[in-house]
Order: sequence, then C-alpha cells, then structure tokens
Amino acid sequence: AKRAGKGRLSFYTPQLTEEIVNRTNNEQGLRHAIKSNQFIVHYQPRVNALTGELVSMEALVRWLHPTRGLVPPMEFIPLAEETGLIVEIGEIVLHQVCAQIVAWQQDGLPVVPISVNVSPRQFTDSDLEVEIATALTRFQVAPSMLELEITESCMLQDSAKVAEEIASLKALGIRVSVDDFGTGYSSLSQLQRLDLDVLKIDRSFTIELENGKHGVDFFRTIVSMAHVLDMQVVAEGVENPAQLRILQALGCDEIQGYFVSRPVPAEAASAFLQRKMLI
Ligand code: C2E
Ligand code: CA
Ligand code: CA
Ligand code: CA
Repeated sequence: AKRAGKGRLSFYTPQLTEEIVNRTNNEQGLRHAIKSNQFIVHYQPRVNALTGELVSMEALVRWLHPTRGLVPPMEFIPLAEETGLIVEIGEIVLHQVCAQIVAWQQDGLPVVPISVNVSPRQFTDSDLEVEIATALTRFQVAPSMLELEITESCMLQDSAKVAEEIASLKALGIRVSVDDFGTGYSSLSQLQRLDLDVLKIDRSFTIELENGKHGVDFFRTIVSMAHVLDMQVVAEGVENPAQLRILQALGCDEIQGYFVSRPVPAEAASAFLQRKMLI
C-alpha cells in the first residue's frame, strides 16, 4: 500500500494496474498517431437560417487509425486533453485547415471562414495567439478566414485572464465564438465584458424545441440575449425541417446540423463552396 494524500491509504489493485497499462498504451498510440500523420479534418457547413446560404464551415478532427478506421474525437480528445497532447493535435488541425484554405483559394473557389475548436488546455496552457499568428503568416491566410470555438469551460478560470486571452485573439483579426452554449456556467456579465462574435447554442436545446413551449421560450430568450450582446446565434444539431421552421421564427441567424450535412472530408466540402445554397 502506498500513502496517498490527506493520510488516506490507496491500494494498487489488478484493475488499477490494467487501467494504468491501458492508459499508457493509449497515450503511446496517440503519440504515434501524431508522428505518423494519422489525423485528418472533416468539415461541416453552417448556413444562414433564412436563405440557406453557406456562411462558414467547422473543422472537426478524426483519427484515421490503420486498423480501427475513422476514430471519432470523443474517443481520444479527453486523453489528449489530459496528457497535454491536445496542444500538438490542435496545431496539426490548425495547419491542415490553413493549408486547405490556401488550396481552395488556389482552385479559385469562394472560400468561407473556417472555425476551429479550441480545448481548455490549449486556451490556458499554450501561447495560442502566437501559434495562430505564426500559422496565418506562414500559410498566408487572412485572419478573417479563421474563427475559434471556445467552450464555456474555457471561461471558468480567472475572468481577467480569460478576457485578456480573448482580446489578444481578437486583436489578430480572427472571430471568436462560444461553443456548446448553455451547458456550462458562463454568466451574462462575463459574456457582456468579452468581445465575442458568435454564440453556438448546444444541440440539447435544439432537441427541446419540439418538446413544447418551454423549450421554445428558452431558446427565444437566448437568441434575444445574444442579439443584445451583438452576437450572431447558431443553433447546433439541427436535424429536421420542423426545427428549422421554429428557429427561423425565433430569429436564429444560422444553423448547423445533419439536416444540412454531416461533417465531410475536404474534397466533399469543396462541393459546398461551389453550390453556395445548401438548403
Ligand atoms: P462540437 O464542437 O460541439 O462539434 C459538434 C459535434 O456534433 C460533432 O461531433 C458533429 O459531428 C456533431 N453533430 C453535428 N450536427 C449534428 C446533428 O445534427 N446531430 C448530431 N447528433 N450530432 C451532430 P464530432 O465531430 O464527433 O466532434 C465531437 C466533439 O469533439 C466536438 O463537439 C468537439 O468538442 C470535439 N472536437 C472535434 N474536433 C476537435 C478539434 O479539432 N479540437 C478540439 N479541441 N476538439 C475537437
Ligand atoms: Ca465546436
Ligand atoms: Ca496566451
Ligand atoms: Ca458544439
């Protein structure tokens, strides 16, 4: 037995050993995946809720595993976050997105801004604004082509530091959005102080739209709050035309979800850029 903190004793059980071994294997697996370029980016369109016009696309990472196939982010992002490897993976995603924007521009396609997810660890630990400024210069991408998605959990820490971090990102000329809004604890006063561009309302609230008046009222309140704060509102996880009709009536600006398209590889995303009108 080993003495743990606060005078408690902890015992290494066989299960615990197995857990540690698994975790180590998985961490090695992630490191190997980073070294051998096994991460790819898929793109999901975001469209104007009234016109159906493509306004931007979200970059979503996938692990192209040699035997497991396409591994979804939920199966490796938590470990990547825990081990700090998310910082490297985040950089891979950012570079892939920048290279893709340039490739689309060279093909003469009307490129829309691409949004990239930022995890709490990237937001606090890394010199994010330096990393982004460097990538924009290196790839010759205009800052207006990039948007960062920050979850409410990024805003939990010391609010002066959060404000400073966001201000330094905004100073680069990129857009910053709040992801999964409604699932965390960001306060109205905090949102008001921060210079944020877009509020992405979590899919769980979109689902509630069809479950009666309460869900609709709730959504309407968030939309008007966001508009008072001068933010664009995006409904996440829109899957059917009934949800879209309600959102249009509520004045929601943009929608994203399977109703428009699932996330697709870059080649398929090129077709969205050409078509422009997606619904
Ligand atoms: P998220 O940022 O909230 O991304 C939206 C997720 O919802 C995506 O899952 C997307 O495929 C899924 N989705 C979109 N529309 C619908 C819909 O209509 N119905 C349903 N049921 N789902 C929908 P995905 O790609 O599996 O990503 C899951 C999460 O992993 C993301 O949630 C994000 O938190 C994280 N993630 C993905 N890529 C990255 C990345 O490059 N960096 C970081 N730090 N996190 C990432
Ligand atoms: Ca997101
Ligand atoms: Ca920083
Ligand atoms: Ca989200």
